[in-house]
Amino acid sequence: MDVTFYGAAGEVTGSMHVLDTGEDRILFDCGMFQGRRKESKEKNETFAIDRSKITNMVLSHAHIDHSGRIPVLTSRDFSGRIVTTRPTADALEYMLMDSGHIQESDAQYLNYKSLRSFLYQLEQNNVKQKVSDREKSDIKKMLKKNAFELNNEAIHALQKKHGLDIVTPLYTMDEARQSLGFIDGYPFDYPITIGKDTTVKFYVAGHILGSAFSLVTVKRDDKTTRILYTGDVGRFGKPILRDPTLVFDEEDRDIDLLVIESTYGDREHEPVEDLGSRLKKVLISTFERGGSVIIPSFAFGRTQELIYILHELYDKKEVPRRPIYVDSPLASNLTKVFVEHPEAYDRDTHKAFLEKGENPFQFDKIRFVQTVEESMRLTQDKSSSHVVISASGMCEAGRILHHLRYRIHDAKNTILLVGYMAENTLGRRIEDLGTKRNEPGDKGEIPEIKILGKSYPLLAKVEKIGGFSAHADKHELEKIITGSNLRIKKIGIVHGEAEQSAAFSKHLQSKGYETIIATPGGKITL
Ligand SMILES: [Zn+2]
Repeated sequence: MDVTFYGAAGEVTGSMHVLDTGEDRILFDCGMFQGRRKESKEKNETFAIDRSKITNMVLSHAHIDHSGRIPVLTSRDFSGRIVTTRPTADALEYMLMDSGHIQESDAQYLNYKSLRSFLYQLEQNNVKQKVSDREKSDIKKMLKKNAFELNNEAIHALQKKHGLDIVTPLYTMDEARQSLGFIDGYPFDYPITIGKDTTVKFYVAGHILGSAFSLVTVKRDDKTTRILYTGDVGRFGKPILRDPTLVFDEEDRDIDLLVIESTYGDREHEPVEDLGSRLKKVLISTFERGGSVIIPSFAFGRTQELIYILHELYDKKEVPRRPIYVDSPLASNLTKVFVEHPEAYDRDTHKAFLEKGENPFQFDKIRFVQTVEESMRLTQDKSSSHVVISASGMCEAGRILHHLRYRIHDAKNTILLVGYMAENTLGRRIEDLGTKRNEPGDKGEIPEIKILGKSYPLLAKVEKIGGFSAHADKHELEKIITGSNLRIKKIGIVHGEAEQSAAFSKHLQSKGYETIIATPGGKITL
């Protein structure tokens, strides 16, 4: 029996591991590689294993770096089932469809860009001089329906006419829709058969709604082997969700192999800080200036945490009760999934809301914006101060861009950053330029920010609140091993940059554990 690592080995995206029991091959997660476009495209397109040989798949949680290649798995040769928790299955309906949409739009944009430069070149050859801005603008107009929408029919027709390569999406929304038919949601703490003499049981992982530790038991010839795959591990003491499990059922305590993530294997987070009081300060000072608070936020998890904390602040009347708009159809749909799964909430959430007959995610001041028209009206509404929560979280696409372009040049407003901003994203640029502004040595120059092709002065205040991380730090990761009732023989370390995994491994070895750091294509034999 062995486990082979095909992704998230020496890195944090593309989670995919295979347990071979001799009789069956069980796939743990099937995640998307994220990062530099070209490199991840190649990795996402190649499927490292023969899909027809996989018996079934077990999914730890709905984040795209763990679930995003499910449509690639199910589009060819796979005849098994995808076993996960009920909230995860429900969230995937929206997450995978959204991912299919992103794949399609990315491909369309690449086709537009390559055709546009081809046509510029063609025009230059025709007129034998540099193409004028006027001609460039005519070409762009021909390829676009309006300022923000491409004319895909025209683009494809011209690509064909000139014999150009057409970029195809990793998968389409249609393929994403079809993949949903393979997914089965089950309750936590309940053994599910996934192969010959093989079951999986899900325990709460506390990372996002529905996230689970997957405990696989193989009982064969009087010998029992247990593998525990953590997926991503959550933090302790965060609002809404139950903490990661430390107490496992008696029959599940002897673990032959623990496969654990190590994103922050060498990092210590600040204690789950008092997010409410920080949020309160930002709201009060912005409202006093007569401005609005614009929050770019991830649609799954972060948005619902914000709604929850705002609900508490509004109930206690700690801030002026100005309207809150959630302007992201994906975030609105995923909030519905939260509402449908109160069994996943912690005791505090039950006490604060459910026992009083209240829904933590619905109150009189909150509005979920649906249509594009309503969203556009909101971007231009300067009549009152309000809060807007919108996606995407790193300001790379989506409705947040329109809120930013209408608000960023007014010092009354605040752009509140609540998440990690990756390099080369608009979010990171706003963070870097906006926070540098208040530092000593700042010359008072007003930075320019480019949004949807136009430059805007960054005059709005930029604030950042940390402490929202959904990943355990090194102490919290260690707690799963030394603070739980598990007896663990061997530990495989995945899902971490090299130095994070190495530090975590070294630390565990100093405590007497046998550890192996996963390598791409590497194997641990049991
Ligand atoms: Zn995750």
